[in-house]
Amino acid sequence: MSFSDPQSIEDLKFTRNIGIAAHIDAGKTTLSERIIFYSGKSHKIGEVHDGAATMDWMEQEQERGITITAAATTLAWKNHRINLIDTPGHVDFTIEVERSLRVLDGAVTVFDSVSGVEPQTETVWRQADKHKVPRICFMNKMDRIGADFFFSVDSIRTRLSAIPLVMQLPIGAEEQFLGVIDLIEQKSFLWNKDSQGTQHSIEEIPDNLKSQSIEYRKKLIETVAEHDDLIMDIFLAEKEPTISELKAAIRRVTISSKVFPVFCGSAFKNKGVQPLLDAVLDYLPSPLDISGVVGKSIYGEEKEIQIPTAFESESIGLAFKIVTDAYSGTLTFFRLYSGIVKIGDQLINPRNEKKERIQKIVKLHANSRVEINELRAGDIGAFIGLKDTVTGDTLCSTKLNCYLERITFPEPVISVAVEAKSSADQEKMKLGLEKLVKEDPSAQLKMDSETGQFLLFGMGELHLEILIDRLFREHKVKANVGRPQVSYRETISMANNCFYEFQREIAGELSYSAIDLSIEPSERGAGNSILFQNNSQNNLLNKKIKEAVLSAINESLDVGVVAGSPNTDIKVIVNSMTFKSDMPYSEASFKAAASLAFRQAIEKSNSVLLEPIFKLEVTVPGSFVGSIVSDLNSRRGQVGSINHKSNGFQVVAAEAPLETLFGYATDVRSLSQGRATFSMEFLKYNEVPKKNLSQILVNLGR
Ligand code: GDP
Ligand code: MG
Repeated sequence: MSFSDPQSIEDLKFTRNIGIAAHIDAGKTTLSERIIFYSGKSHKIGEVHDGAATMDWMEQEQERGITITAAATTLAWKNHRINLIDTPGHVDFTIEVERSLRVLDGAVTVFDSVSGVEPQTETVWRQADKHKVPRICFMNKMDRIGADFFFSVDSIRTRLSAIPLVMQLPIGAEEQFLGVIDLIEQKSFLWNKDSQGTQHSIEEIPDNLKSQSIEYRKKLIETVAEHDDLIMDIFLAEKEPTISELKAAIRRVTISSKVFPVFCGSAFKNKGVQPLLDAVLDYLPSPLDISGVVGKSIYGEEKEIQIPTAFESESIGLAFKIVTDAYSGTLTFFRLYSGIVKIGDQLINPRNEKKERIQKIVKLHANSRVEINELRAGDIGAFIGLKDTVTGDTLCSTKLNCYLERITFPEPVISVAVEAKSSADQEKMKLGLEKLVKEDPSAQLKMDSETGQFLLFGMGELHLEILIDRLFREHKVKANVGRPQVSYRETISMANNCFYEFQREIAGELSYSAIDLSIEPSERGAGNSILFQNNSQNNLLNKKIKEAVLSAINESLDVGVVAGSPNTDIKVIVNSMTFKSDMPYSEASFKAAASLAFRQAIEKSNSVLLEPIFKLEVTVPGSFVGSIVSDLNSRRGQVGSINHKSNGFQVVAAEAPLETLFGYATDVRSLSQGRATFSMEFLKYNEVPKKNLSQILVNLGR
């Protein structure tokens, strides 16, 4: 590999931590393969369609042709070190995208230039906005029939409300796509078929594209000038910026996410990849360009702590992905923000205050790995053999009183029951499920105490399917799996109050504890909260009593009164906890009082059942729109809009309850003779309509 480890902190300007994000099938994996190939690390280009891509290394990924695990790989390009993360496009795995974005400094967004912005492009774009990740855009698949560069660029404006900065023009399209024009240099880059794209020639712009190239170069400078004072001054003085002035300005406006430079090519036909890599170096930020990461103090008064990007400071970083593997056990992917972590160092996990000794550090190239002796600030690597660290945890020097904000994970909305086929499989299954859930924080595991079955919760049907598949293959468990079930929630529709006096003989003595609490509905999506009023009686009681009351309320919240589903969006206020000086009380008596007070309060608060609603986008030829819409209506769906797309396709946007969407993939295929594509993702919880409630309760066995 042709880069050296950064010696001084300034050398970090040669590091890029980037991700590739897009709608499924836009070509992320294909592009990553090319990037790895051209950077000289792989001798053969793996193709997604023959299941040989090196980034998609899990068996299921290769069979299904999709990317599930964000595999991190380090590569070299023109004396720079690029840490590249391949992120999945399917929304069931958005959590993978979310956690990658959290630790990356910049991203390449890939588009299919036949369709431009697609639903999941919007989702990942919004996530990248949230994490303030600067992006460049790649209009891929310029060789496909229907490829339309200008339509796709325009969709960035219309669907993402972002400002595209056209950096290249395509030379030809579809079968005739030959290469790209670099608008800054005013040169053509042409690729021949034979060299697998390793060689290209740089030539004059073809005559028929000359005036368009000049026009677009002018537009480029104008757009940059609108966002950069230096270029604006040059522009107003009616002078031409030099190439290096222009590139420096584009770097500034890209890093501040004011504009998004757009490039084009065909990953599959090996065209346009090297200029894109150059653009990663030219325009995406290095760790030095990222305004300081902020941590929070763990002990004492909560305050914000600036984390310097420096080698000589105390170490701190974020574990953003856990993978377990049969050979080496647990791999913890880690972004180090500050300091240097060496083999033998001890780091602390502020969440559980456990210490972890660093035994092995590796850098990865897809499924091969290189052991290294230390990881330096600004870099990404993986630790092998950590025991008590999960995704989202901070690890830092034992001298630091600091943690980085945790990655937030959405609540899973769907579950399946899993039951081992034999008692011999039971323990293996439990261990397997626990491992899977540890690796994937968007999955959860619960044991049904009545049946002894395990319930595995996830983000969607495909997500659960993949998890179960991995349970069978990687953990070699034989189990029966139930049909997927919707995860319902409950909430209250009115406030209520209860004062409960608990008085009972415990161990021969009459105990007394009383609780006064109020419950009120919170905004939808707010979750539950529990608050203790600050008053003298409450303050007299010790911490153990308060913890007992807290856990009693949490346990009660977990089982609703309509269908036994967990409650959400309820605010509980403990107004008072009282005792009598002449009567004993205990944790148990307060716990009982709290449970009973809560139970009485919630019983008269008009509880309602909530169901997950999914957002859908179905893209379908115009002639099938009618049957798609009427089918959605029969699924209690609400069609929001029907918009025209290119090539006579229409996009139907709708919302529908998850309950009606099981098997939708199969149904939509038969409704459209296989021509529809669709995406769906969790949107919100809504109250179950009165007319559907009794049927749903019957289905739930109530
Ligand atoms: P991902 O889901 O974004 O990772 O997309 P993949 O890289 O798996 O690609 C999806 C499909 O599109 C595969 O069949 C690829 O061979 C194909 N593909 C990727 N890039 C191109 C391209 O530039 N042109 C054409 N025609 N097909 C492409
Ligand atoms: Mg992929």
